[in-house]
Amino acid sequence: GSSYGAGLEKGQKAHAVCVPFPAQGHINPMLQFAKLLHRHGFRITFVLTHFNYRRLVRAQGEDAVNGLPDFRFESIADGLPNSDNDATQDISLLCDATTKKCLAPFRRLLADLNNSSLGPAVTCIVADGGMSFTLDAASELSIPNVLFWTSSASGYLAFQHYHHLLERGIIPLKDMSDVTNGFLDTEVDWIPGFMKGMRLKDFPSWIRTTDREEVVLNYLIYEMKRAAMGSAIIFNTFDDLEEPALNALRRFLPPVYAVGPFSILSHHLLPSDSPLNTIGTSLWKEDDSCLKWLDDHNMKPHSVVYVSFGSITVMTDDQLIEFAWGLANSGYKFIWVIRPDQFQGEANIIPAEFVEETKGRGMMVSWTAQRKLLAHPAIGAFLSHCGWNSTIEGLCGGVPMICWPFFSEQLTNCRYACAEWGVGVELAGDVKRAAVEALIREVMAGEKGREMRRRAAEWKERAVKAAGGPHGGSTVNFNRVVNEVLLPR
Ligand code: UDP
Repeated sequence: GSSYGAGLEKGQKAHAVCVPFPAQGHINPMLQFAKLLHRHGFRITFVLTHFNYRRLVRAQGEDAVNGLPDFRFESIADGLPNSDNDATQDISLLCDATTKKCLAPFRRLLADLNNSSLGPAVTCIVADGGMSFTLDAASELSIPNVLFWTSSASGYLAFQHYHHLLERGIIPLKDMSDVTNGFLDTEVDWIPGFMKGMRLKDFPSWIRTTDREEVVLNYLIYEMKRAAMGSAIIFNTFDDLEEPALNALRRFLPPVYAVGPFSILSHHLLPSDSPLNTIGTSLWKEDDSCLKWLDDHNMKPHSVVYVSFGSITVMTDDQLIEFAWGLANSGYKFIWVIRPDQFQGEANIIPAEFVEETKGRGMMVSWTAQRKLLAHPAIGAFLSHCGWNSTIEGLCGGVPMICWPFFSEQLTNCRYACAEWGVGVELAGDVKRAAVEALIREVMAGEKGREMRRRAAEWKERAVKAAGGPHGGSTVNFNRVVNEVLLPR
């Protein structure tokens, strides 16, 4: 069967240890990938941090987390002070702590797994590209370590050029006024693989600093160098969507495989009654009342706006209020995900008049099953922060986007969505209710919106072509990375 690589003895099982970066947008796609490996015959050990393990158990229940004998969850310390918050941790602290503190507990975990009589020895590691400490452990055990970057390939290409920007003296910025004085409008035409018209302002946001020691910037430069040591690099994208960036990366990196979109690949490879489907990925409890609301009211196709800014974005009270009135004044129905930890200001700032005004046509939930929602025909527009998962999930649903990038390569994704893929419009500058309203109207019913919806439907079709059948490029790439890299030879 497919579970035996040439290097495995008969009856021995391949055993993959999967290590996501400890944030929701990294855990989701890694868990989807791990399920695909399990389906292929691998035993899986899925390694969370203690913090996120507790949250997953709280959100999904103990059974969902350890119900399957060959798909086990383990946890290690993240190196940060203990906390029982139900909120996303500080990204910059996480980058620093995981780099410095995680290797030792990870080594101990691997030793325990290998000494255990309960399961087969570890035969490979699939780690988030931002958890490259795993490379040291993999090389000690002489097993392959595939690096999974959960960003777009284009955003990753930008990360890979941070050090060139440094060498050219473009970053760190001389002065923070460079962010607003037009300096970032400079076109970057000297990097092969980018779309035409790529500007400094489309680079992941960590260049917007005057501090050479900025933590995330330096973490990324470090991780970009370490990518060379991976056995292969995988992305949750497809060749058709990001071919120029992928090809540019292929010129200087270990083998690069586009194996997405995972939501479509999973749909095709995992049977609908697979027990794997009981393993949920959300760290917050999902409220599915909004899905029910769509069905109960028989909502017309493309009639509802879906609003979500992912798991990390925080906003000011002012921004929240402008979004709220923009939505209300647009007159459209909407579903709005508002995480409890989303505000910089006081909680419960949502104006009562807004709630009253949108009664019956607006649903607010604290977290939901986004992938299902974006696949629902009633959703007509996606107001998004352009996290890569959200962006590709939106494409898979054929849903046009209103883009409000918050940080990191969301800026790059936004630029591509708007200027290259033709599926997005950007909400630029300060959030103003009139602009929110106008963009919603445009995307839901305007000429430009119609064109965006047509393009989104085309991308959806191409995504299905790549990952929806046995001969699609991403399916083939998935089988290749399994057979050529992950299975022992
Ligand atoms: N998500 C979800 N329910 C929600 C909001 C978001 O399941 O109510 C999921 C979404 O489907 C995506 C992930 O959370 O897979 C967010 O990842 P993304 O890369 O879009 O943004 P990040 O959270 O990393 O900023």
